[in-house]
Amino acid sequence: MKTYAIATIPGDGIGKEVVPAGQQVLEALAASGSGFRFEFENFGWGGDWYREHGEMMPANGLDALRNKDAILFGSAGDPDIPDHITLWGLRLKICQGFDQYANVRPTRILPGIDGPLKRCGPKDLDWVIVRENSEGEYSGVGGRVHQGHPIEAATDVSMMTRAGVERIMRYAFRLARSRPRKLLTVITKSNAQRHAMVMWDEIAVQISQEFPDVTWGKELVDAATARMVNKPGTLDTIVATNLHADILSDLAAALAGSLGIAPTGNIDPERRYPSMFEPIHGSAFDIMGKGLANPVGTFWSVVMLLEHLGEFDAAKRVMAAIERVTANPALHTGDLGGSATTADVTAAVCGLIAEGA
Ligand code: ATP
Ligand code: MG
Repeated sequence: MKTYAIATIPGDGIGKEVVPAGQQVLEALAASGSGFRFEFENFGWGGDWYREHGEMMPANGLDALRNKDAILFGSAGDPDIPDHITLWGLRLKICQGFDQYANVRPTRILPGIDGPLKRCGPKDLDWVIVRENSEGEYSGVGGRVHQGHPIEAATDVSMMTRAGVERIMRYAFRLARSRPRKLLTVITKSNAQRHAMVMWDEIAVQISQEFPDVTWGKELVDAATARMVNKPGTLDTIVATNLHADILSDLAAALAGSLGIAPTGNIDPERRYPSMFEPIHGSAFDIMGKGLANPVGTFWSVVMLLEHLGEFDAAKRVMAAIERVTANPALHTGDLGGSATTADVTAAVCGLIAEGA
């Protein structure tokens, strides 16, 4: 039987609750005669590891992950450790180490969930945001001089390479082509940023010529936020820089009803390395350890993981189970206004999968 090697990295906070829940869903799927099985290896990296070892993950940690088929990640973030350490020391180390340059974020309003848009009318949205995940504003280029002096100065340079922009544009056009509407919006800010963003626009025009069947247009990032709220149906696939997509995808998640349901994949489209799937929410220490975390974002990430493995039927089964569960308000967690627990939602999804849903 086909066996997939999966690394699980729960990380911090509610990551420790939702990742085991995601693993349960995969185990339920394997047990339901899907024709494949999983071999899990768990890595206890994150804030606790940092307190013990002075780093978020071991220096040779990437080697332990290299031969996995995929990684299921929770979140990295700890109230006692500065955010730039938790972020760069674990999640970004993996994203950059494995050149997971496409960060893919689907957003839909799932059945039974009343997002803010739905509350003011029958507005639907169905988007995939493609985030450039390897350079741009988060390239780490920059520096700080004369600290503590009146002439102190600091820079964060948004570095974009032609190769980096070409590959994310091509990925986004290809993804847009694979979706029914074949519609791509390229987010930009080239009116104010006159170097890298202008190159970004030029490369969009260049790559579009390889995809004559994709309808595409440019939109300034500020205007895009208004469009997402006022005319969500005019968007489908969206490609944006690291920072722009970071912001737009939190907005997207909020418009879909909750941060707790949104998934993401950090993907190496060339499949040289394992790709990593995770809910977009953070460690949420305010609700940690209480069984209140919504595991749906992790379950949807599991769907993306299965699609990445090429297990499309299994992915559809898990998504169908998720949608049947969200449709039932008795199975909504606190973030959706309900009182169900992580365990209730997990048991319901696993139960449907076991029944052959
Ligand atoms: P980090 O610093 O790691 O980003 P955070 O504390 O900022 O973590 P976020 O995950 O960004 O937490 O979420 C903000 C708030 O949204 C949380 O404090 C929590 O109340 C709520 N929230 C986030 N994810 C979930 C979830 N899966 N289920 C329920 N509530 C959630
Ligand atoms: Mg946060």
